[in-house]
Amino acid sequence: MKFGGTSMAGSERIRRVANIVRRQQAAGHEVAVVVSAMAGETDRLVNFCREANPLYDPAEYDVVVASGEQVTSGLLALTLQSMGCKARSWLGWQLPIHTDSAYSKARIGEFESDALIASMQAGEIAVIPGFQGLSDEGRITTLGRGGSDTSAVAVAAAVKADRCDIYTDVDGVYTTDPRIVAKARKLKNVTYEEMLELASVGSKVLQTRSVSLAMKERVRVQVLSSFIDDDAPAADTIPGTMIVSDEELEGLDMERQLITGIAADKNEAKVTLTRIADRPGAVATIFGPLAAANINVDMIIQNIAKDKGETDVTFTVPAADLVRTQALLEAQKEAIGYFRMISDGKVAKISVVGVGMRSHAGVASTMFRALADRGINIQAISTSEIKVSVLIDEDETELAVRVLHTAYGLDGE
Ligand code: ASP
Ligand code: MG
Repeated sequence: MKFGGTSMAGSERIRRVANIVRRQQAAGHEVAVVVSAMAGETDRLVNFCREANPLYDPAEYDVVVASGEQVTSGLLALTLQSMGCKARSWLGWQLPIHTDSAYSKARIGEFESDALIASMQAGEIAVIPGFQGLSDEGRITTLGRGGSDTSAVAVAAAVKADRCDIYTDVDGVYTTDPRIVAKARKLKNVTYEEMLELASVGSKVLQTRSVSLAMKERVRVQVLSSFIDDDAPAADTIPGTMIVSDEELEGLDMERQLITGIAADKNEAKVTLTRIADRPGAVATIFGPLAAANINVDMIIQNIAKDKGETDVTFTVPAADLVRTQALLEAQKEAIGYFRMISDGKVAKISVVGVGMRSHAGVASTMFRALADRGINIQAISTSEIKVSVLIDEDETELAVRVLHTAYGLDGE
């Protein structure tokens, strides 16, 4: 069971969580619980790091931001104990959950689960702070924002859980954010691949890595609400959204929509380098240093060369990495040989996702037409087998999502 930040925000909510956990144990399950920091806490800690040093050392950043989960895991264990349950916390370094040394976005390696399993078998509820790991250098790491989901899936895989229930403040995965589109519908099932695409393009329900890990380890994941009454249907009746394999879905849902969901991501920033020499190796000099600094580049556009054998290159990076990106490219100005660097943090990426796209033509053109009809300008495009994404002005995000939700026939009652 995993509980997110809003579910853990304050003593009263932690008590509610403890109740849900206790009920699962009473139903005969051995339970491990992964928790997030209280809502807003990680943002607060990140801000302290930025104030201390805008070009912060990611290893020290991890020391600071990992603390939010330490607090909530101890509090949940205490609350369970106050209800008469046996419970204890297991910090990331105590298990340990080994990771690489990519501080602030570490990847999980080996997971030592023997002690954890022994404690669960002895009837103890294991409470594990999400987000935390231990690097091979022996220092605390964190798994990237939203990383508690990945911790939960890793725990589920390590103990070979029947299911990984991710409790959050919504009751499942929707066709799009219901706060933007009132007619959004809850999905009963989503495939791993669709969820992966949705997560990577801004549906904040699950961290992307957690979905790829679940897909790789074949962990059955359910997304469901923690804001429920005592008489709400039990998690075992699957009240939320199940994330399943393609094959499993075919058996469950014959009447699939062409498009499963639409997501918006405001956390990208656009960078353009003008007048780069159009020669072999030019773009490598741009993206090499970014890769070395662990900055993930998403969309990339290179224009065809103009008369002087020069070209412009536009790409997007996570907004949080924009300052570092600018500093790196500024330092490499000579080596890359560009004329100007222009950046824009006021962009949004809108994506439509669906496995149905594989076998149908015209998905992209429907998107471009619908946006054009509303005068929304497209600044960049990227596609995958089951996704089409466009970059637009951030101010037009909500309008774009609404228009597309209708255009693909996703509006519910
Ligand atoms: N507390 C961390 C964050 O806000 C990890 C998580 O909640 O998943 O990103
Ligand atoms: Mg989260």
